Amino acid sequence: MNDVGTATALLDLRGVRKTFRTPERRERTVLEGVDFRLEEGEIVALLGKSGSGKSTLLRIMAGLIGANGGDVKYRGAHMTGPAKGIAMVFQSFALFPWLTVQENVELGLEAAGVGTAEREARATEAIDLIGLGGFESAYPKELSGGMRQRVGFARALVMRPDVLLLDEPFSALDVLTSETLREDLLELWDERKIPTKGILLVSHNIEEAVSMADRVLVFSSDPGRVKAEIRVGLPRPRDVESAAFRQIVDEVYTLMTAHVRGGGAGAAEQLTLGYRLPDTTPGKLAGLLETVAEAPFHGRADLPQLAEETELEDDALFHLFEGLRVLGLARIAAGDIFLTTAGQSFVEADDARRKEMFAEILVKNIPLAAHIRRVLDERKDHRAPEDRFLQELQDYLTDDEAERVLEIAITWGRYAEIFDYDYNSGVLMLPEEVVEEMEAEEEQKVETGSDTHE
Ligand code: ADP
Ligand code: MG
Repeated sequence: MNDVGTATALLDLRGVRKTFRTPERRERTVLEGVDFRLEEGEIVALLGKSGSGKSTLLRIMAGLIGANGGDVKYRGAHMTGPAKGIAMVFQSFALFPWLTVQENVELGLEAAGVGTAEREARATEAIDLIGLGGFESAYPKELSGGMRQRVGFARALVMRPDVLLLDEPFSALDVLTSETLREDLLELWDERKIPTKGILLVSHNIEEAVSMADRVLVFSSDPGRVKAEIRVGLPRPRDVESAAFRQIVDEVYTLMTAHVRGGGAGAAEQLTLGYRLPDTTPGKLAGLLETVAEAPFHGRADLPQLAEETELEDDALFHLFEGLRVLGLARIAAGDIFLTTAGQSFVEADDARRKEMFAEILVKNIPLAAHIRRVLDERKDHRAPEDRFLQELQDYLTDDEAERVLEIAITWGRYAEIFDYDYNSGVLMLPEEVVEEMEAEEEQKVETGSDTHE
């Protein structure tokens, strides 16, 4: 720990905890033990999976919602409500479609009681600063995505914020647009054209985080907390092709894919019924396995290189990595992903054999899949409504997440043909072939006079 503790941080969070109540009045802990400091003069990036609580944390920092525990300070003072010096930019732009650019930007000042003349002058200044000069009277729908987000930035900058909280502001933009906007923001920051003293950027793009931030924090899920930190000691603008930059990107990948639970090499992870299955499909999992197996990787791939090759978003890629890992088809170590023996056999197998392998793995490794199958096996008619499983999942997850997780389990299970699902009735059932097989077996038993008889 370096001791900068004497200086007052812009933001200082200690042991922050946040719980939400599900509609069934169960309590869910989203954040637990979050420690975080934003010092004067720094840009910090926060990387983490979706659903890990990053937006919730930002809203707590902005004073928009309260924490259930711990301590939140802004410039040494306890947070009691929306903080005046803190402005936010959202992924969704959040503009009012019926207001012009100028009106959208002035809105916050109006709410703060700033007079008309000053409002106008400051909005014009902010609009110019972010490169939207000339578009003051345009409506959001007349603007491209990149320009809309510039309005989002102008609306934050017009408040002359001390602290800027950016919640994935570049995620909805295409690569080039987000790059220019990032560069423009960094220029304003590095050349001190804005009075902002600290920036916190939430991102799910590793390269974006490393190209902007002085420190990159890796956030964990369930519950969310700051898991690790990497300092980026490179001058800006940064050369994303340089060896030093690539090295840091590599380190971040390694940290993000290192799972703390599970223990020693080879030790199978003990998942629970409520384990959040990664949002991906068997087809995509197989596709990634094939890519890793083929040239130029030949079974072992450097993660950033694989990201580039597949052109997948980091978020999608991490879901795939996690899927392959929990299925035991691939492992990750030292910034590389490599196929396990099972993964290698899977790639070499034909479609029919792949399904069989997938079925065996699901029942062995994924408690939810095994549970569904067991229930269907035991039921006389081999059918069960999905609500039954949703209710069980709600002990672990919110309604939305329970639905998402069950849907993934259904997609995986149907591919493996361990169960089937009727989308009209919402009923899960054993596949017909399986039922026929079971019945044939039963008959055989009766005919040969098995030991259950008399
Ligand atoms: P992230 O930004 O990392 O994707 P969020 O902070 O948006 O994550 O959400 C974290 C978790 O908290 C999610 O499971 C989400 O469903 C839950 N959550 C967020 N806001 C609320 C709320 N107002 N009520 C109930 N649950 C919420
Ligand atoms: Mg979010």
